[in-house]
Amino acid sequence: MQSPVTAGGLRNTSVVILTLNTSEVYIIISLSFRTDTQVIYIDPTTGSLKHDRKPGYDIFNSQDEALKYITNGSQSNIKSTIYAKAILGFAVLGNFALLLVATKLTASIPYLPGGGCVYMVVESKWVKIQLQNVQPQGKGELKNIQELIELEIDGKHYFCETRDITRPFPSRVSLRDPDDEFVWNRWFSIAFRRIGLEQHCVVLLQGFVEYRTFGSFGQQEGIVALVARRSRLHPGTRYLARGLNACYSTGNEIECEQLVWVPKRAGQSVPFNTYIWRRGTIPIWWGAELKMTAAEASIYVSERDPYKGSARYYQRLTKRYDTRNLGVVGQSQSQSQSNNALVPIVCVNLLRSGEGKSESILVQHFEESLDYIRSMGQLPDTRIHLIHYDWHTSIRLKGEHQTIEGLWYHLKAPTISVGISEGDYLLSREHMEDYKGENFYNDDIIGFFCMRVHQNGVIRYNCADSLDRTNAASFFGALQVFVEQCRRLGIILDNDASPKKSNESNHTKPWKGFDMTFNEFKKSTLLSPVFQLADLFLIAGDIHAMLYTGSKAMHSHILNIFSEEANKSKQFSVAQNVKINLQRRYNNAVVDSSRQKQLEMFLGLRLFKHLPSVSVHPLHVLSRRPGFLLKPVASVDPSSDGDCLLSFKQKDLIWVSQQAADIIQLFIYLGEPCHVCQLLLTISHGADDSTYPSTLDVRTGRDLDALKLVLEGATIPRCPNGTNMVVSIPGPISNEEMALKRTGSNVHKTSLPFLYDFNGPEGKLDFLTRVVVLTFYPAESTSSPVTLGEVEILGISLPWRDIFASEGHGLSVYKRVTNSKDDFNDIPSKTRNTTNVALTDDVLSPEKSYMSASPQVDLLTGDNVISGSDSQPMTDISLHDRDLNIKELEKARLQDKIPTKNGAQQYISCFEMLTALHGGNKLGFIEAMKLEIERLHLNLSTFERDKALSSIGIDPSTIDPNTLIEESYIGSLCKTSNALAVLGQISLEDRTTGSIGLDPIDNTNDIDFWNVTRVGDRCYGESCQVRAETLSLTSSSKSTYICCVCKRKVCKVCCAGKGAILLRNNGGTSYNDVDGVICKRCCDESVLDALTLDYIRVLISQRRSHHAEIATYKALGRVVGDNCISRKTAPFNKNGTVEVLRKLLKGEESLAEFPFGSFLHSIESASGSAPPLSLLTPLDTELQNSYWRAPNTSSSVELVIVLGNLADVTGIVLLVSPCGYSMSDSPTVQIWASNKIHKEERSCIGKWDVRSLINSSPELCGPEKSDNESQTPRHIRFDFRNPVRCRMIWIKLTIQKLVSSSVSFGKDFNLLSLNNDDPLSGPVRRASIAGTSESIPCIHAKRILVTGSSVKADIEESSSRNYEVASGIKSWLEKAPLLNRYKVPTESEKLIEHDLVLELNISPGSPVVAGFRLDGFSAIKPQLIHSPSSNVNPLDVLSIVFQHRFLSPAVLFIQVSASQGSSEEEMVVVAEYRVPEVKSGTPMYFDFPEVISSRRLWFRLVGDVTAFSDDPEEGDSGRTLAAGLSLLNRIKLYYYAHPSDLGRWASLSGI
Ligand SMILES: [Zn+2]
Ligand SMILES: [Zn+2]
Repeated sequence: MQSPVTAGGLRNTSVVILTLNTSEVYIIISLSFRTDTQVIYIDPTTGSLKHDRKPGYDIFNSQDEALKYITNGSQSNIKSTIYAKAILGFAVLGNFALLLVATKLTASIPYLPGGGCVYMVVESKWVKIQLQNVQPQGKGELKNIQELIELEIDGKHYFCETRDITRPFPSRVSLRDPDDEFVWNRWFSIAFRRIGLEQHCVVLLQGFVEYRTFGSFGQQEGIVALVARRSRLHPGTRYLARGLNACYSTGNEIECEQLVWVPKRAGQSVPFNTYIWRRGTIPIWWGAELKMTAAEASIYVSERDPYKGSARYYQRLTKRYDTRNLGVVGQSQSQSQSNNALVPIVCVNLLRSGEGKSESILVQHFEESLDYIRSMGQLPDTRIHLIHYDWHTSIRLKGEHQTIEGLWYHLKAPTISVGISEGDYLLSREHMEDYKGENFYNDDIIGFFCMRVHQNGVIRYNCADSLDRTNAASFFGALQVFVEQCRRLGIILDNDASPKKSNESNHTKPWKGFDMTFNEFKKSTLLSPVFQLADLFLIAGDIHAMLYTGSKAMHSHILNIFSEEANKSKQFSVAQNVKINLQRRYNNAVVDSSRQKQLEMFLGLRLFKHLPSVSVHPLHVLSRRPGFLLKPVASVDPSSDGDCLLSFKQKDLIWVSQQAADIIQLFIYLGEPCHVCQLLLTISHGADDSTYPSTLDVRTGRDLDALKLVLEGATIPRCPNGTNMVVSIPGPISNEEMALKRTGSNVHKTSLPFLYDFNGPEGKLDFLTRVVVLTFYPAESTSSPVTLGEVEILGISLPWRDIFASEGHGLSVYKRVTNSKDDFNDIPSKTRNTTNVALTDDVLSPEKSYMSASPQVDLLTGDNVISGSDSQPMTDISLHDRDLNIKELEKARLQDKIPTKNGAQQYISCFEMLTALHGGNKLGFIEAMKLEIERLHLNLSTFERDKALSSIGIDPSTIDPNTLIEESYIGSLCKTSNALAVLGQISLEDRTTGSIGLDPIDNTNDIDFWNVTRVGDRCYGESCQVRAETLSLTSSSKSTYICCVCKRKVCKVCCAGKGAILLRNNGGTSYNDVDGVICKRCCDESVLDALTLDYIRVLISQRRSHHAEIATYKALGRVVGDNCISRKTAPFNKNGTVEVLRKLLKGEESLAEFPFGSFLHSIESASGSAPPLSLLTPLDTELQNSYWRAPNTSSSVELVIVLGNLADVTGIVLLVSPCGYSMSDSPTVQIWASNKIHKEERSCIGKWDVRSLINSSPELCGPEKSDNESQTPRHIRFDFRNPVRCRMIWIKLTIQKLVSSSVSFGKDFNLLSLNNDDPLSGPVRRASIAGTSESIPCIHAKRILVTGSSVKADIEESSSRNYEVASGIKSWLEKAPLLNRYKVPTESEKLIEHDLVLELNISPGSPVVAGFRLDGFSAIKPQLIHSPSSNVNPLDVLSIVFQHRFLSPAVLFIQVSASQGSSEEEMVVVAEYRVPEVKSGTPMYFDFPEVISSRRLWFRLVGDVTAFSDDPEEGDSGRTLAAGLSLLNRIKLYYYAHPSDLGRWASLSGI
């Protein structure tokens, strides 16, 4: 696609952020190393990025072309423009999208050897975009978002667009695969990776980079560059990030690199060498507490396991600096190096070691830690040296000169042994084999690198903070290496070396500076290059100090020691140090914790804490262009066909219907298939808010013939004009379940599901949903026209383009679902029920779904092929098998193997077993939880469970764990369980981060996070000393563990899950580890209950993920055919199809390609046929010679293709099936074009007969020859006389079902001549004569391409609206409503039941109540609700495919009861409303079906109230239920009256 260009590229990267008047934001990027321009659209509602890779649409030849396209060539459409040089990151955080760009850069290293420019970000800009979303967000979250954008970027971050600089120079690895340890915007760049534009966001490093040119006697010039990469594994500020963390990294950890090279003229190879060292705080668990009274911070070392992870730290260094890892081909010096089996790591410790010094405790532990590591033998390849060198004491006692000399003395041997790396960059890969050394190259460079010598091992400097002393000492160490680096490049820094001598100066002794005194060194060395180097270290020291402490470096005057002004700067420096010290203390006390938070958020860490409600993966808005309305809706404005309702550009528009209507129906065709999750309405009306409809039905389906009602009669409360309102849309549920739900009179029980949703219905998922029909019902009282505003459909679309291209996110989704069988074995939810039915039927039955007995039925109804299989167990392998010993269970298992015993029956067996244990046909809380676990392992839905229980006469509600637990206990149980979720998540985040740069740890311990005892699990008996599960012991000699508390031997069954260890450790120490084992007897009962509860929550979410994966798999199968996806390999090969496609399209666009193009109606297929949608899949999607066939019985098929966009169509290309045509199955093709679905409005384009063609083109007949793969496939063109502008193409294929195919045609048959009546299309005879199915001709085809060019079809601003019409509408809209709302006074209010019920007593004599006002809730929906179910981080955007919160949305209802008749006590439900989501505090007015005259009203909030919580940053209310849901002050009653009836008091009581 693009070829690498030498450093800097042909142009500079240019980024334009364009905000239109409509508030829509576009990013226009022209990368330096490409020649074209990409456009990314930031969705104004959800913030999701959109880039479809369509030339002329979001890919352009130049920036100007792109700008012109977006603005329609008019500057007046632009609200603001930001010009930038690079994109640094983007993220959607709830209702805001944040874009970070660099606006000013410095070329810190303009040209690396081999090319590549390293830029420092000098000026950056956060672009904060307010989104139309109405996700409730807490104040704390908003504050944190604001703090994030105050993160300092400028002057401290750098990048290279064309080379990998996250590894020591020169990197062997391509830019696309950076070393995660040093990438600071990995999380912040994920959005670009998801749309396949990862290179459009740079790889951002933190630290310092700069270069200096120096000369020796003005003759041979050299360049020295200093690169300092700050590790992100232990990010944070001094006092908060010190010593080791759980990711095995230390605070202020920096890799430094000193690169020296000789600039050459163009065409010459470039010799260079590099030296690497590390700096960081001491790698043990320690910290410092700053006391305001004491001068120095008091240092402490962790009491528990202070050296935990130290070995892993050194292991990471060993891995990185081990020459043997480079795969060096033995050459001269490198040979001797690779023979060296050990990697030296030399720690230079600069701390005060004197007795009584606070730092001495660290020195002592440092020693001990190394002894500990050596004693454990954990680092067989590493030789760690520790050199103590008390810098401050030495300077005080011996002075600076001797201190430097002493350092050199210590450093000499290790520095020489570690050595440096040397090599050349060669411009051409020709004759590469002639060069001795390790030769390598990658995609980013043109020539190759030849490395002659490699540095092996590393020197690591530390002081307490890795700041001032570290910087100074590392300078003097690096200075010696610098002299040697120069010498090896032929640059002699000897002061006495004359220019003439320098040419033959190879005799100069290597490393000779180490043996000199300070003064000898100063005298004999050319000082100007030294000053240059010192200058680099001074700046670097300040930057590192700024990053860690927020202040400049101290004590840095010593770096000027070679300068004559050294003394002067010393004086100055004393005062400076005092100032800096004060600043550091202030920063620590005031800003450090905030900076820590900023860094964590920037890195995407602990988001569940800082931004608990933010979903990292925004939804897509599929109703936008090219989505459109299939049917026009009549507006009062004749120029509008209603499509403006779908356009964000018209979001302020008030659409008015032509006249009063009973219903208004919108048939929305989505721009791409998706699973529909939400409907976003913009409430629009004039002065009278009753013109907006009051209720709504939603139907969804894959096409017009398969619509299902998913939401019925949802209330739309009256709201202020412009209110954005989200209506969550559940997936369709089965009719049976629906029926049960309807008959259940008491849907919302009074007991709240605090633990988990026991009853939740499970909607189906369909990622191929394409049609959404909204039916709006106006309020009954109105007889005026209806107003509507913008309508948006939000959903989750599969990454089809990536799936077809087998790359990026699409590839991972594809692999995930096609390999889900293996996946299911990884998850902890093993089931012992060994029936294989599940997987073969459920997920992996490609053949079945299409070859089943009645495939046509499936295709027609869209019914899922695997319906009825939901009740099958999830997996076929049992983990627990080996633990089972009880006879009855063995018996049960034997029964399980009989496939006739289904999940429901097994569930009943479990139920009976548990009730037998508990006695009395009842279950206790624990048994009920265990039964639910079994239910989830059996993969039964709540509906299937209830059905099974009812069949044996059990009321399901009697086994609801939520009701079987004391209310006083619920709160503490939920709290423990939530704490467990947080700890589990932290532990996982740390493990994920900690694994960077390391080999994975082999975790042999097989106790999982929960280790919940399943029904039938028994203690091992004799070998176990704990015996927590004592019901019946069995003797077993299986392996046992040791409890870390009571030190007894414990069997697996009697162990508590790993989560218990986390909960236990949580008090006190700062790290989370899951090492060790704790027995159940040493745990609180509440901890065990919390583990069980968390486990249920995890299983529920796994069940949902499982469903989502099945749905994805099914969607894939419906597009490319199950045969294709069952192969499990890389999905689709491309074989030179770009050329083929170009030939077929003749330079035009392919307009009907899936996922943009699709069919409007269901299409019947023959058994074994490829799915109809495969006709539209991209040409390069290899479908293994399968093709689509109509059933043998049909002689005519009508395909209605909806194009991806409005387009000027020039023709259609039909790709012939591999079987080829014969006289009997070559069809007559009739084509129409239209814009809407009405058949009457389509216009006929032409009629062609293929049979006439095959006489003249015999190659279309018979099976395809296999050897012409690379050639243009066999096809037939149907060219239109003139281009036709349309949105739909209707193709009717007809074959004559004749007994014999003996009809003959004249040779002069004209393909374009059949517009008139066709003699062949007379009455068709069915092929009813007996014969094998092969001989019966049927309609078939391989692909259909629609060619032409798409038309930009933006809705224009409504300037075309007729003035008279407009003013008519305006005056109608401005008309005040007849009746106003007035407040009904209440006498008293009472909150009951967790503030979810509000009792209102109405003052006597008040008017009757017509409705109530409810103000939008302020509670948030937290993302983290259970511990991670696997090693996949549920909050990591790249690893997740679907977010449960969208797939099974939490919905609130408000129920109104009124006292009836004379009995004041009896409250009867009078109405129930689904509460849509609005911004917190937005007033919503709900009219009652009829006025209520009761004196007492109850408002009860029901539904998924437990899915909400409060923003923890706003303070813990200590409640189990979110305080933001409290009905206190949230409800007011009103009545309607005419303003004049109330006189001037009216305005006072308006509501
Ligand atoms: Zn035991
Ligand atoms: Zn114990």
